[in-house]
Amino acid sequence: MDRRHLLELFAGIPLAVATGFRPRADRIVVIGGGILGCSTAYRLAKRGAEVTLCERAELGAGASGKSGAWINAHQSKLPQHYFEISRLSTLAWHELQQEVGGIRIKWGGRLEWTRDSEAGDALRAAAQQQQGWGYPMEWLEAARIRELVPPLVVEPDLTAAVFAPLEGAVEPVEALRALADAASTMGADIRLNTEVLGIELTDGRVSAVRTDRDVIRADAVVIAGGIDTSTIAGWLGVQIPLRPAPGVLAYTSGSAPNLPSIVAGPDVFVIPLPSGRHVMGRGFVGQPVYSTDRPASEQAEAEAVFAMARSRFTTMEQARLDDITVGWRPLPTDGHPIIGFARSVPGLYPIVTHSGFTLAASLSRLAAIEILDGVSVDLLAPYRPDRFA
Ligand SMILES: Cc1cc2nc3c(=O)[nH]c(=O)nc-3n(C[C@H](O)[C@H](O)[C@H](O)COP(=O)(O)OP(=O)(O)OC[C@H]3O[C@@H](n4cnc5c(N)ncnc54)[C@H](O)[C@@H]3O)c2cc1C
Repeated sequence: MDRRHLLELFAGIPLAVATGFRPRADRIVVIGGGILGCSTAYRLAKRGAEVTLCERAELGAGASGKSGAWINAHQSKLPQHYFEISRLSTLAWHELQQEVGGIRIKWGGRLEWTRDSEAGDALRAAAQQQQGWGYPMEWLEAARIRELVPPLVVEPDLTAAVFAPLEGAVEPVEALRALADAASTMGADIRLNTEVLGIELTDGRVSAVRTDRDVIRADAVVIAGGIDTSTIAGWLGVQIPLRPAPGVLAYTSGSAPNLPSIVAGPDVFVIPLPSGRHVMGRGFVGQPVYSTDRPASEQAEAEAVFAMARSRFTTMEQARLDDITVGWRPLPTDGHPIIGFARSVPGLYPIVTHSGFTLAASLSRLAAIEILDGVSVDLLAPYRPDRFA
């Protein structure tokens, strides 16, 4: 499959100048048990670092437990460098899945369709651009849609449809546990119900983390605290500007047949999860959702989404609305990841992003390279925390 391509991509990562910071003893504390914290802890432990992960509640207590967990290089991921890192990450998930037992991903691709002619033109133009960047996208006629996702009812609305075959969805909380377990097997100390209350400096550089239980010595601290990353970095005067945006998701039980691929339409997106459940919402997740308004009634929002899905998929008749989540997307103000050492505080390494499930597979690996090898990876240059200073 794409493994060779993946290896080529990673082999081609340009490693640039030494950063000037090298942890003295590879003792790293990771704050946060979401997808970014768990994947980074795993990569660091695998490289032989002494890792402690502190999560104030349970794994997946933040956005990662309330996420669509759709892995994609959607056409909204612009400019090209952001698209490229998303594509790299999509491939890197295959590698992670092979390495770490217990990560389930349904690789069924994404079918996206539109209803009005303006949206159809925009979808065509965006997909053509992605094809030009080497991302497989297939144009779909109605007959092919019926072949790919037979239960989807699109006629007579349809104006354009595409299929992106490389995308999929990960079973989110299971993946966090699998990564934390794998990190633990390699010696990482995973501390749940442990809140970080402060980060201590010695001679201006990170030297310890203070929790509600004890003090942990640290040569570097990764802040993967989701929407709380701003507050934690702010303790040391580092600005991480976020605009958290809420998202309601509705989940079905596994009683309806699992759709063969993710379907994103103008009124609802439905993501089939490996467990057989479906997760669905509206306000398309491929791109940042800028509304910061929480819906007046989450129950009403979830029921409306579920009703739309039932009207679009013949098989959803058999589904039941089983669960609702409201998550806050850790959305940087410019929409792009924030990752890298903060220049003003040696040893402090924030990682926060929207689309964190997609990006975790590559960002965690590149973060481990930067933290442990004392180099700066060019691919991450557009995403440095200091761009906000
Ligand atoms: C509705 C919704 C749909 C989404 N859909 C997708 C999607 O389809 N695809 C995709 O790629 N992305 C999606 N995202 C985005 C993605 O889920 C997030 O980018 C990702 O989960 C962020 O992971 P994280 O590890 O950075 O943060 P989080 O998962 O929020 O984890 C941060 C953790 O830090 C802990 N913490 C905070 N402060 C402290 C402290 N002081 N001490 C100890 N622990 C602390 C919190 O308890 C939390 O568990 C979606 C998000 C939402 C909300």
